[in-house]
Amino acid sequence: MLKLNNIEVIYSDVILVLRGISLEVKSGQIATLLGANGAGKTTTLEAISGLLRTQQGEVTRGSIEFDGQRIDRMRPDEIVRLGIVQILEGHRVFEHLTVEENLNVGALVRSNDAEIQQDLDRVYHYFPRLKDLRNNVSGYLSGGEKQMLVIGRALMARPKLMLLDEPSLGLAPLLVEEIFNVVRQINDEGVTILLVEQNAHHALRTSDYGYVMENGRIVLDGPADQLIENEDIKEFYLGLTQVGERKSYRDVKHYKRRKRWLG
Ligand code: ATP
Repeated sequence: MLKLNNIEVIYSDVILVLRGISLEVKSGQIATLLGANGAGKTTTLEAISGLLRTQQGEVTRGSIEFDGQRIDRMRPDEIVRLGIVQILEGHRVFEHLTVEENLNVGALVRSNDAEIQQDLDRVYHYFPRLKDLRNNVSGYLSGGEKQMLVIGRALMARPKLMLLDEPSLGLAPLLVEEIFNVVRQINDEGVTILLVEQNAHHALRTSDYGYVMENGRIVLDGPADQLIENEDIKEFYLGLTQVGERKSYRDVKHYKRRKRWLG
């Protein structure tokens, strides 16, 4: 469904951030992009949604295809109309609008009122809490409720592909569980998902396929159930073994190689 072919991204004409990223998200799947802070995960999502341009970023090499159509030269609104929505990191809602008004903003690209109402009911089914709060001003919601709202708002656009940036950020463990459950349900109903996460454990358990990014490159990829068992991933991302302070994924590999050489 989505294919990134060796893309390079440069900010402000000089800052090279993505150095040849290739990845694929198959229809109906959940894929996850893992990586440390600054690896280029958000930049990758913004390259897909077209929002990169609002940050003075540009895809300078390679191509992005969605359902066989090239999208890397399209405007963000054209990309939304094709069925791709990005949910930005940090639970950004329109603070002065009510919950329901926020949800309706997600449906602005659509015109069939009956379908919009149906989708509103669907969002309230996923997140009953939002139904209770539907007439409340969104600025006063908790972090978790705002996260539900931004996912709900994205659903109102009836996306084919959802780009989800760190949905677990800053949420209590129970809420993280709830959000990932809904992500799975949304996927079960046919929405393909590309997820960016620091919470590797939850993300891999939820996904079909995973990519690990470092310094603007993909350094590892594979089926999620295999990545979860990968020793380096366990060491670096899941923190299941002790290697002193957290190093980069490459450092972990070099460290292991050195250890082998030294016997
Ligand atoms: P995090 O997990 O911290 O969100 P990330 O993997 O999503 O990190 P990006 O936000 O994509 O990483 O940033 C990748 C690199 O690009 C970083 O070094 C960042 O400083 C740089 N960067 C991001 N946005 C811009 C911009 N508008 N102009 C210049 N450099 C930028």
